[in-house]
Amino acid sequence: MAKIEEYIPLVGQSVIDDLSLLSERLKGKVIQHINSTPVGGGVAEILNRMVPLLRELGVDTKWDVIKGGEQFFAVTKKFHNALHGRAEEITSRDFEVFMETSQQNVEGIDTYGDIVFIHDPQPIALVKKKSANKWLWRCHIDVSNPNDRIWGFLMDFIVQYDSAVFSAPAFSQKLPIRQFLISPSIDPLSDKNKELPQETIASVLRKYDIKKDKPIITQISRFDRLKDPLGVIEAYLRVKKYTDCQLILAGGTAEDDPEGSKVLEEVQERAKNDPDIHILLLSQNDIEINALQRASDIIIQKSIREGFGLTVAEALWKAKPVVASNVGGIPLQIKHKYSGLLCHSVGGASFAMKQLLNSPEYAKKLGENGREHIKNNFLITRHLRDYMLLFLSLYHPEDIVRLC
Ligand code: UDP
Repeated sequence: MAKIEEYIPLVGQSVIDDLSLLSERLKGKVIQHINSTPVGGGVAEILNRMVPLLRELGVDTKWDVIKGGEQFFAVTKKFHNALHGRAEEITSRDFEVFMETSQQNVEGIDTYGDIVFIHDPQPIALVKKKSANKWLWRCHIDVSNPNDRIWGFLMDFIVQYDSAVFSAPAFSQKLPIRQFLISPSIDPLSDKNKELPQETIASVLRKYDIKKDKPIITQISRFDRLKDPLGVIEAYLRVKKYTDCQLILAGGTAEDDPEGSKVLEEVQERAKNDPDIHILLLSQNDIEINALQRASDIIIQKSIREGFGLTVAEALWKAKPVVASNVGGIPLQIKHKYSGLLCHSVGGASFAMKQLLNSPEYAKKLGENGREHIKNNFLITRHLRDYMLLFLSLYHPEDIVRLC
Protein backbone atom coordinates (compact mmCIF):
# COMPACT_ATOMS: atom_id res chain seq x y z
CA MET A 1 0.00 0.00 0.00
CA ALA A 2 1.42 3.35 -1.06
CA LYS A 3 2.46 5.82 1.63
CA ILE A 4 1.02 9.30 1.60
CA GLU A 5 4.35 10.93 0.59
CA GLU A 6 4.40 8.82 -2.54
CA TYR A 7 1.56 10.98 -3.87
CA ILE A 8 3.70 14.13 -3.76
CA PRO A 9 5.22 13.70 -7.24
CA LEU A 10 1.70 13.38 -8.66
CA VAL A 11 -0.23 16.08 -6.82
CA GLY A 12 2.38 18.32 -5.21
CA GLN A 13 3.59 18.89 -1.66
CA SER A 14 0.97 21.49 -0.75
CA VAL A 15 -1.90 19.05 -1.32
CA ILE A 16 -0.34 16.57 1.09
CA ASP A 17 0.40 19.33 3.63
CA ASP A 18 -3.28 20.33 3.54
CA LEU A 19 -4.30 16.75 4.25
CA SER A 20 -2.00 16.61 7.29
CA LEU A 21 -3.43 19.87 8.63
CA LEU A 22 -7.00 18.66 8.25
CA SER A 23 -6.24 15.31 9.87
CA GLU A 24 -4.81 17.12 12.93
CA ARG A 25 -8.22 18.65 13.50
CA LEU A 26 -9.85 15.22 13.57
CA LYS A 27 -7.59 13.85 16.34
CA GLY A 28 -9.57 11.90 18.91
CA LYS A 29 -12.50 11.15 16.60
CA VAL A 30 -13.27 7.63 15.44
CA ILE A 31 -14.70 7.34 11.92
CA GLN A 32 -16.59 4.09 11.31
CA HIS A 33 -17.49 3.17 7.75
CA ILE A 34 -20.20 0.56 7.24
CA ASN A 35 -21.18 -1.00 3.90
CA SER A 36 -22.39 -4.33 2.58
CA THR A 37 -19.42 -5.99 0.90
CA PRO A 38 -15.65 -6.02 1.47
CA VAL A 39 -14.90 -6.63 -2.24
CA GLY A 40 -16.56 -6.08 -5.60
CA GLY A 41 -17.97 -2.88 -6.99
CA GLY A 42 -17.02 0.73 -6.61
CA VAL A 43 -17.85 1.29 -2.94
CA ALA A 44 -15.56 -1.47 -1.71
CA GLU A 45 -12.93 -0.41 -4.22
CA ILE A 46 -12.79 3.08 -2.73
CA LEU A 47 -12.95 2.01 0.92
CA ASN A 48 -10.09 -0.42 0.38
CA ARG A 49 -7.88 2.55 -0.51
CA MET A 50 -9.44 5.30 1.56
CA VAL A 51 -9.42 3.55 4.94
CA PRO A 52 -5.66 2.80 5.09
CA LEU A 53 -4.77 6.28 3.84
CA LEU A 54 -6.98 8.00 6.43
CA ARG A 55 -5.34 5.83 9.10
CA GLU A 56 -1.91 6.78 7.85
CA LEU A 57 -2.88 10.43 8.08
CA GLY A 58 -3.68 9.78 11.74
CA VAL A 59 -7.48 9.65 11.46
CA ASP A 60 -8.77 6.74 13.53
CA THR A 61 -10.78 4.94 10.83
CA LYS A 62 -12.62 1.61 11.03
CA TRP A 63 -14.57 -0.34 8.46
CA ASP A 64 -17.35 -2.82 9.26
CA VAL A 65 -19.51 -4.83 6.88
CA ILE A 66 -23.13 -5.84 7.56
CA LYS A 67 -24.24 -9.43 7.18
CA GLY A 68 -27.05 -10.54 4.91
CA GLY A 69 -28.28 -13.72 3.28
CA GLU A 70 -29.14 -14.41 -0.33
CA GLN A 71 -32.73 -13.25 0.13
CA PHE A 72 -31.67 -9.94 1.65
CA PHE A 73 -29.23 -9.20 -1.17
CA ALA A 74 -31.84 -10.19 -3.76
CA VAL A 75 -34.12 -7.55 -2.21
CA THR A 76 -31.43 -4.87 -1.97
CA LYS A 77 -30.52 -5.55 -5.61
CA LYS A 78 -34.15 -4.89 -6.53
CA PHE A 79 -34.01 -1.67 -4.50
CA HIS A 80 -30.80 -0.76 -6.31
CA ASN A 81 -32.37 -1.31 -9.72
CA ALA A 82 -35.53 0.57 -8.73
CA LEU A 83 -33.50 3.52 -7.45
CA HIS A 84 -31.80 3.56 -10.82
CA GLY A 85 -35.28 3.93 -12.30
CA ARG A 86 -35.73 0.35 -13.53
CA ALA A 87 -39.18 -1.22 -13.20
CA GLU A 88 -39.08 -3.84 -10.43
CA GLU A 89 -41.85 -5.70 -8.73
CA ILE A 90 -41.30 -5.20 -5.05
CA THR A 91 -43.60 -7.03 -2.66
CA SER A 92 -44.46 -6.37 0.95
CA ARG A 93 -42.51 -9.55 1.76
CA ASP A 94 -39.41 -7.87 0.27
CA PHE A 95 -39.75 -5.01 2.73
CA GLU A 96 -40.15 -7.51 5.56
CA VAL A 97 -36.98 -9.36 4.49
CA PHE A 98 -35.13 -6.04 4.39
CA MET A 99 -36.31 -5.11 7.87
CA GLU A 100 -35.62 -8.56 9.36
CA THR A 101 -31.99 -8.57 8.22
CA SER A 102 -31.62 -4.92 9.18
CA GLN A 103 -32.83 -5.76 12.69
CA GLN A 104 -30.25 -8.59 12.93
CA ASN A 105 -27.56 -6.11 11.95
CA VAL A 106 -28.87 -3.53 14.41
CA GLU A 107 -28.38 -6.18 17.09
CA GLY A 108 -25.09 -7.54 15.73
CA ILE A 109 -23.12 -4.41 14.82
CA ASP A 110 -21.61 -2.09 17.36
CA THR A 111 -21.88 1.49 16.09
CA TYR A 112 -19.12 2.88 18.27
CA GLY A 113 -17.82 5.57 15.86
CA ASP A 114 -17.94 9.25 16.73
CA ILE A 115 -18.95 9.48 13.10
CA VAL A 116 -20.79 6.51 11.61
CA PHE A 117 -20.51 6.66 7.84
CA ILE A 118 -23.10 4.43 6.15
CA HIS A 119 -22.69 3.59 2.47
CA ASP A 120 -25.69 2.94 0.23
CA PRO A 121 -29.14 1.56 1.09
CA GLN A 122 -28.23 -1.92 2.37
CA PRO A 123 -27.13 -0.80 5.87
CA ILE A 124 -29.30 2.34 5.97
CA ALA A 125 -31.60 1.12 8.77
CA LEU A 126 -28.73 0.93 11.25
CA VAL A 127 -29.47 4.59 11.92
CA LYS A 128 -32.00 3.31 14.40
CA LYS A 129 -29.00 3.00 16.73
CA LYS A 130 -28.10 6.67 16.47
CA SER A 131 -27.30 8.20 19.82
CA ALA A 132 -25.15 11.24 20.54
CA ASN A 133 -22.78 10.38 17.68
CA LYS A 134 -22.93 11.80 14.14
CA TRP A 135 -24.34 9.80 11.26
CA LEU A 136 -23.67 10.24 7.55
CA TRP A 137 -25.40 8.46 4.70
CA ARG A 138 -23.52 8.30 1.41
CA CYS A 139 -25.54 7.38 -1.61
CA HIS A 140 -23.31 6.04 -4.39
CA ILE A 141 -26.26 5.37 -6.69
CA ASP A 142 -27.66 7.51 -9.49
CA VAL A 143 -30.89 8.64 -7.86
CA SER A 144 -31.72 11.32 -10.40
CA ASN A 145 -34.93 9.45 -11.22
CA PRO A 146 -35.66 7.01 -8.39
CA ASN A 147 -38.69 4.80 -7.97
CA ASP A 148 -40.93 6.84 -5.63
CA ARG A 149 -41.96 3.91 -3.47
CA ILE A 150 -38.41 2.84 -2.66
CA TRP A 151 -37.17 6.37 -2.24
CA GLY A 152 -40.11 7.06 0.08
CA PHE A 153 -39.23 3.94 2.09
CA LEU A 154 -35.60 5.04 2.40
CA MET A 155 -36.59 8.60 3.31
CA ASP A 156 -37.88 7.42 6.68
CA PHE A 157 -34.28 6.47 7.47
CA ILE A 158 -32.48 9.25 5.63
CA VAL A 159 -34.13 12.00 7.66
CA GLN A 160 -32.63 10.51 10.82
CA TYR A 161 -29.08 11.13 9.57
CA ASP A 162 -27.11 14.32 10.20
CA SER A 163 -26.10 14.69 6.55
CA ALA A 164 -26.29 12.92 3.21
CA VAL A 165 -23.67 12.72 0.49
CA PHE A 166 -24.30 12.28 -3.25
CA SER A 167 -21.82 11.74 -6.07
CA ALA A 168 -23.05 14.24 -8.63
CA PRO A 169 -25.21 17.39 -8.71
CA ALA A 170 -27.90 15.61 -10.74
CA PHE A 171 -28.41 13.09 -7.89
CA SER A 172 -29.17 15.61 -5.16
CA GLN A 173 -32.60 15.42 -3.57
CA LYS A 174 -35.00 17.58 -1.61
CA LEU A 175 -34.06 16.66 1.94
CA PRO A 176 -34.59 18.20 5.36
CA ILE A 177 -30.96 17.42 6.25
CA ARG A 178 -27.73 18.95 5.00
CA GLN A 179 -26.39 17.39 1.84
CA PHE A 180 -22.96 17.37 0.24
CA LEU A 181 -21.81 16.58 -3.26
CA ILE A 182 -18.60 14.60 -3.29
CA SER A 183 -17.54 12.69 -6.35
CA PRO A 184 -15.63 9.43 -5.96
CA SER A 185 -12.01 8.97 -6.93
CA ILE A 186 -9.36 6.53 -8.02
CA ASP A 187 -6.04 5.80 -6.41
CA PRO A 188 -3.27 6.36 -8.96
CA LEU A 189 -0.84 4.21 -6.96
CA SER A 190 -3.05 1.18 -6.41
CA ASP A 191 -2.42 -2.07 -8.25
CA LYS A 192 -5.47 -1.18 -10.36
CA ASN A 193 -3.98 2.07 -11.62
CA LYS A 194 -0.21 2.15 -11.19
CA GLU A 195 2.14 2.03 -14.19
CA LEU A 196 2.89 -1.51 -15.33
CA PRO A 197 5.88 -2.92 -17.18
CA GLN A 198 5.11 -4.00 -20.76
CA GLU A 199 6.06 -7.53 -19.80
CA THR A 200 3.30 -7.72 -17.18
CA ILE A 201 0.73 -6.55 -19.73
CA ALA A 202 1.98 -9.09 -22.25
CA SER A 203 1.88 -11.92 -19.74
CA VAL A 204 -1.74 -11.16 -18.79
CA LEU A 205 -2.70 -11.24 -22.48
CA ARG A 206 -0.87 -14.55 -22.88
CA LYS A 207 -2.64 -15.97 -19.84
CA TYR A 208 -6.01 -15.29 -21.45
CA ASP A 209 -4.84 -16.26 -24.92
CA ILE A 210 -5.46 -12.80 -26.37
CA LYS A 211 -3.27 -11.67 -29.27
CA LYS A 212 -2.56 -8.04 -30.05
CA ASP A 213 -3.00 -8.65 -33.77
CA LYS A 214 -6.21 -6.59 -34.01
CA PRO A 215 -7.57 -3.66 -32.03
CA ILE A 216 -8.92 -4.50 -28.58
CA ILE A 217 -12.14 -2.98 -27.26
CA THR A 218 -12.75 -3.64 -23.57
CA GLN A 219 -15.47 -3.22 -21.00
CA ILE A 220 -14.53 -3.99 -17.41
CA SER A 221 -17.67 -4.40 -15.31
CA ARG A 222 -19.59 -6.68 -13.07
CA PHE A 223 -21.95 -8.83 -15.13
CA ASP A 224 -24.98 -6.69 -14.47
CA ARG A 225 -27.81 -5.72 -16.83
CA LEU A 226 -27.31 -2.07 -15.99
CA LYS A 227 -23.81 -2.35 -17.47
CA ASP A 228 -25.46 -3.59 -20.69
CA PRO A 229 -22.92 -6.27 -21.69
CA LEU A 230 -25.25 -7.50 -24.46
CA GLY A 231 -25.43 -3.96 -25.83
CA VAL A 232 -21.63 -3.86 -25.84
CA ILE A 233 -21.58 -7.04 -27.95
CA GLU A 234 -24.09 -5.51 -30.40
CA ALA A 235 -22.01 -2.36 -30.73
CA TYR A 236 -18.81 -4.37 -31.24
CA LEU A 237 -20.47 -6.49 -33.96
CA ARG A 238 -21.42 -3.33 -35.83
CA VAL A 239 -17.85 -2.02 -35.62
CA LYS A 240 -16.45 -5.35 -36.74
CA LYS A 241 -18.29 -5.09 -40.06
CA TYR A 242 -15.90 -2.25 -40.94
CA THR A 243 -12.75 -2.91 -38.91
CA ASP A 244 -11.60 -6.29 -37.73
CA CYS A 245 -11.30 -6.05 -33.96
CA GLN A 246 -11.78 -8.04 -30.77
CA LEU A 247 -13.80 -7.53 -27.63
CA ILE A 248 -12.96 -8.21 -24.00
CA LEU A 249 -15.77 -8.30 -21.48
CA ALA A 250 -14.09 -8.76 -18.15
CA GLY A 251 -15.59 -8.76 -14.73
CA GLY A 252 -16.38 -10.64 -11.62
CA THR A 253 -19.40 -10.67 -9.41
CA ALA A 254 -19.92 -8.83 -6.15
CA GLU A 255 -21.01 -10.59 -2.97
CA ASP A 256 -24.03 -8.31 -2.72
CA ASP A 257 -25.11 -8.92 -6.35
CA PRO A 258 -27.01 -12.20 -6.81
CA GLU A 259 -27.95 -11.52 -10.48
CA GLY A 260 -24.40 -11.77 -11.79
CA SER A 261 -24.22 -15.43 -12.78
CA LYS A 262 -27.47 -15.26 -14.77
CA VAL A 263 -26.26 -12.27 -16.75
CA LEU A 264 -22.90 -13.94 -17.32
CA GLU A 265 -24.65 -17.00 -18.80
CA GLU A 266 -26.62 -14.83 -21.22
CA VAL A 267 -23.46 -13.06 -22.30
CA GLN A 268 -21.58 -16.34 -22.80
CA GLU A 269 -24.45 -17.65 -24.88
CA ARG A 270 -24.48 -14.54 -27.09
CA ALA A 271 -20.71 -14.66 -27.57
CA LYS A 272 -20.16 -18.37 -28.06
CA ASN A 273 -19.75 -18.37 -31.83
CA ASP A 274 -17.28 -15.50 -32.03
CA PRO A 275 -13.66 -16.41 -31.11
CA ASP A 276 -12.82 -12.70 -31.00
CA ILE A 277 -15.04 -12.11 -27.99
CA HIS A 278 -13.19 -12.88 -24.78
CA ILE A 279 -15.38 -13.23 -21.73
CA LEU A 280 -13.10 -13.19 -18.71
CA LEU A 281 -14.34 -13.99 -15.28
CA LEU A 282 -11.87 -12.22 -13.07
CA SER A 283 -11.80 -12.54 -9.38
CA GLN A 284 -10.43 -9.53 -7.53
CA ASN A 285 -7.29 -9.27 -9.59
CA ASP A 286 -6.34 -5.65 -9.82
CA ILE A 287 -3.10 -6.10 -11.73
CA GLU A 288 -4.94 -8.06 -14.40
CA ILE A 289 -7.64 -5.41 -14.73
CA ASN A 290 -4.96 -2.74 -14.94
CA ALA A 291 -3.13 -4.73 -17.64
CA LEU A 292 -6.29 -5.33 -19.68
CA GLN A 293 -7.17 -1.64 -19.57
CA ARG A 294 -3.63 -0.72 -20.66
CA ALA A 295 -3.62 -3.32 -23.45
CA SER A 296 -6.85 -1.95 -24.92
CA ASP A 297 -7.21 0.40 -27.85
CA ILE A 298 -10.64 1.56 -26.71
CA ILE A 299 -12.42 1.28 -23.39
CA ILE A 300 -16.18 1.18 -23.51
CA GLN A 301 -18.59 1.68 -20.62
CA LYS A 302 -22.04 1.27 -22.06
CA SER A 303 -23.97 1.48 -18.80
CA ILE A 304 -27.71 2.06 -18.86
CA ARG A 305 -27.45 3.64 -15.42
CA GLU A 306 -24.31 4.41 -13.47
CA GLY A 307 -23.42 5.81 -10.09
CA PHE A 308 -20.10 7.44 -10.83
CA GLY A 309 -18.44 4.88 -13.05
CA LEU A 310 -15.00 4.30 -11.60
CA THR A 311 -14.01 2.19 -14.58
CA VAL A 312 -14.20 5.32 -16.73
CA ALA A 313 -11.84 7.21 -14.43
CA GLU A 314 -9.49 4.22 -14.37
CA ALA A 315 -9.36 4.10 -18.16
CA LEU A 316 -8.93 7.85 -18.60
CA TRP A 317 -6.13 7.87 -16.04
CA LYS A 318 -4.37 5.41 -18.36
CA ALA A 319 -4.90 7.93 -21.18
CA LYS A 320 -7.22 5.57 -23.03
CA PRO A 321 -9.86 6.82 -25.45
CA VAL A 322 -13.20 6.02 -23.81
CA VAL A 323 -16.67 5.63 -25.27
CA ALA A 324 -19.26 5.74 -22.52
CA SER A 325 -22.95 6.33 -21.98
CA ASN A 326 -24.08 9.77 -21.00
CA VAL A 327 -25.47 8.61 -17.65
CA GLY A 328 -24.81 9.07 -13.94
CA GLY A 329 -21.39 10.45 -13.10
CA ILE A 330 -19.90 9.66 -16.51
CA PRO A 331 -20.48 13.16 -18.00
CA LEU A 332 -18.56 14.61 -15.04
CA GLN A 333 -15.57 12.67 -16.32
CA ILE A 334 -16.06 12.83 -20.06
CA LYS A 335 -16.56 16.16 -21.75
CA HIS A 336 -17.84 15.00 -25.11
CA LYS A 337 -15.21 15.22 -27.87
CA TYR A 338 -12.66 16.58 -25.38
CA SER A 339 -11.90 13.83 -22.88
CA GLY A 340 -13.76 10.98 -24.55
CA LEU A 341 -16.94 10.31 -26.48
CA LEU A 342 -20.39 10.06 -24.93
CA CYS A 343 -23.08 7.87 -26.44
CA HIS A 344 -26.78 7.18 -25.94
CA SER A 345 -27.38 3.93 -27.84
CA VAL A 346 -25.81 0.88 -29.46
CA GLY A 347 -25.67 2.83 -32.71
CA GLY A 348 -24.00 5.80 -31.02
CA ALA A 349 -21.45 3.56 -29.30
CA SER A 350 -20.49 1.78 -32.51
CA PHE A 351 -20.28 5.07 -34.43
CA ALA A 352 -17.95 6.51 -31.76
CA MET A 353 -15.77 3.40 -31.73
CA LYS A 354 -15.45 3.39 -35.52
CA GLN A 355 -14.43 7.03 -35.38
CA LEU A 356 -11.71 6.30 -32.82
CA LEU A 357 -10.35 3.32 -34.73
CA ASN A 358 -10.21 5.41 -37.91
CA SER A 359 -8.53 8.41 -36.26
CA PRO A 360 -5.75 7.24 -33.94
CA GLU A 361 -4.40 10.78 -33.43
CA TYR A 362 -7.81 12.01 -32.30
CA ALA A 363 -8.19 8.98 -30.04
CA LYS A 364 -4.79 9.67 -28.49
CA LYS A 365 -5.66 13.32 -27.83
CA LEU A 366 -8.94 12.41 -26.14
CA GLY A 367 -7.06 9.97 -23.90
CA GLU A 368 -4.44 12.55 -22.95
CA ASN A 369 -7.09 15.14 -22.12
CA GLY A 370 -8.93 12.52 -20.11
CA ARG A 371 -5.87 11.76 -18.01
CA GLU A 372 -5.38 15.44 -17.23
CA HIS A 373 -9.04 15.82 -16.27
CA ILE A 374 -8.85 12.86 -13.87
CA LYS A 375 -5.61 14.16 -12.42
CA ASN A 376 -7.21 17.52 -11.66
CA ASN A 377 -10.50 16.25 -10.29
CA PHE A 378 -10.81 12.60 -9.42
CA LEU A 379 -7.72 11.38 -7.58
CA ILE A 380 -7.96 10.00 -4.07
CA THR A 381 -6.11 12.95 -2.53
CA ARG A 382 -9.01 15.26 -3.47
CA HIS A 383 -11.43 12.73 -2.03
CA LEU A 384 -9.52 12.47 1.25
CA ARG A 385 -9.67 16.23 1.59
CA ASP A 386 -13.41 16.32 0.89
CA TYR A 387 -14.09 13.58 3.43
CA MET A 388 -12.09 15.28 6.17
CA LEU A 389 -13.84 18.59 5.51
CA LEU A 390 -17.13 16.75 5.60
CA PHE A 391 -16.29 15.18 8.98
CA LEU A 392 -15.27 18.55 10.38
CA SER A 393 -18.43 20.18 9.07
CA LEU A 394 -20.48 17.89 11.32
CA TYR A 395 -19.01 19.65 14.34
CA HIS A 396 -19.33 23.10 12.81
CA PRO A 397 -22.83 23.14 11.38
CA GLU A 398 -22.98 26.93 11.05
CA ASP A 399 -19.64 27.38 9.31
CA ILE A 400 -19.27 27.44 5.60
CA VAL A 401 -17.22 24.40 4.71
CA ARG A 402 -15.92 24.56 1.19
CA LEU A 403 -15.76 21.31 -0.67
CA CYS A 404 -14.56 21.78 -4.17
N1 UDP B 1 -13.97 -4.21 -10.86
C1 UDP B 1 -13.16 -5.21 -10.37
N2 UDP B 1 -13.36 -6.46 -10.82
C2 UDP B 1 -14.32 -6.76 -11.70
C3 UDP B 1 -15.16 -5.73 -12.20
C4 UDP B 1 -14.96 -4.45 -11.75
O1 UDP B 1 -12.26 -4.97 -9.57
O2 UDP B 1 -14.44 -7.92 -12.05
C5 UDP B 1 -13.74 -2.87 -10.36
C6 UDP B 1 -13.56 -1.81 -11.41
O3 UDP B 1 -12.22 -1.80 -11.87
C7 UDP B 1 -13.97 -0.57 -10.63
C8 UDP B 1 -15.07 -1.08 -9.73
O4 UDP B 1 -14.87 -2.48 -9.61
O5 UDP B 1 -12.90 -0.13 -9.83
C9 UDP B 1 -16.45 -0.83 -10.32
O6 UDP B 1 -16.85 0.45 -10.03
P1 UDP B 1 -17.87 1.22 -10.94
O7 UDP B 1 -18.12 2.54 -10.29
O8 UDP B 1 -17.36 1.26 -12.35
O9 UDP B 1 -19.18 0.33 -10.95
P2 UDP B 1 -20.04 -0.45 -9.81
O10 UDP B 1 -19.59 -1.86 -9.89
O11 UDP B 1 -19.76 0.20 -8.50
O12 UDP B 1 -21.45 -0.29 -10.28
